[in-house]
Amino acid sequence: MKKLLPLLLFIITIQTKAQQVFVDTHNDILSNELITGYDIGKLQQEGNFDLVRAKQGGLNAQVFSIWCGEQYGTGTAFGMATREIDSLNALIKRYPSRITLVRNSEELKKAVKQNKLAAMIGVEGGHMIEDRMDYLDSLAKRGMRYLTLTWNNSTTWATSARDETRNKDTTKHMGLTEYGKQIVRHMNELGVMVDVSHVGERTFYDAIATSTKPIIASHSCVYNLAPNRRNLKDDQLKAIGKNGGVVFVNFYSAFVDSTFDSKDNPFLRQHRKERDSLFTIYHDETLANIRLNNIYKDITDPMRPPISLLVKHIDYIVKLIGIDHVGIGSDFDGSESYPLGLDSVADYPKVFDALRDIGYSKSDIDKIKGGNFLRVLKANTGK
Ligand SMILES: [Zn+2]
Repeated sequence: MKKLLPLLLFIITIQTKAQQVFVDTHNDILSNELITGYDIGKLQQEGNFDLVRAKQGGLNAQVFSIWCGEQYGTGTAFGMATREIDSLNALIKRYPSRITLVRNSEELKKAVKQNKLAAMIGVEGGHMIEDRMDYLDSLAKRGMRYLTLTWNNSTTWATSARDETRNKDTTKHMGLTEYGKQIVRHMNELGVMVDVSHVGERTFYDAIATSTKPIIASHSCVYNLAPNRRNLKDDQLKAIGKNGGVVFVNFYSAFVDSTFDSKDNPFLRQHRKERDSLFTIYHDETLANIRLNNIYKDITDPMRPPISLLVKHIDYIVKLIGIDHVGIGSDFDGSESYPLGLDSVADYPKVFDALRDIGYSKSDIDKIKGGNFLRVLKANTGK
């Protein structure tokens, strides 16, 4: 036995190492990269993501968001989705030893074992399938593993959080239509996870009642801590817990900190002209805001919440529905402000250090990092 002990310890170490998966379920770099043309295989000075900093931050699985704004619709939105997937595939072709596309938990774990970033595809916004079931099939075939039923804009078959609240009077239907329910059922068949981030409450409850598989919120926080329509109320969180789903917590300052907008809105108003001129360069609101924030770092940095407040959202979900239902969906490259210290994917360890500081064990943190995602992915894809 004495002789076997070192060997046994060696095997255990290898196995635990192989199992350590850290996934972020939401990053918007692909749509930005189409505009900026940056090679995210190399270290970049701008933006939150590249393969070099991902490695530094211990990230070994990333769901890349495929997204376009609501100005795209019939005849154009699906085309944007395919362009972004082409761009991801081009990145993978350029750096085959560092990144690979995966479609299920087994492939993900294999990629992590090979020391590659496991790249996955999540499509953000039902408008990108242009009301067509064959486009849903096509995106699933290319690797889509979640579809966010709506972005801020509603589709003809699902209503968004924005429209169910701000545009209540002009919205033609509420929740999922019969066709919307067919889409959810077909997603279940295809192994495409139902993502409820961005959807309205009516759509949320219709989707959870229709789906036969656990659902996810790929990038949302807690409404009770920051009452924003994009965040989830306690009853919604409880419903996700009951469904076996997972909430992946968003890092965006406005979703983390209820006081952020009251500081940020006057700043944006004050710098409206510069923001407008930046918009004419990028034709993208988020990119314009990111650049503006960088120019005025001395003003915008003090507005950022502390990491401890982000961790409160994680802890709140754990206390309400349990450790098995929370993960990380940073929304990096999708917004202009994150908690102070979280500047890029290199900084994730600070979040886990903060969790450790408030008493989270390694096995708890491993669930948050990747264990919960692997479970919900397997429950949807079958492997
Ligand atoms: Zn989003």
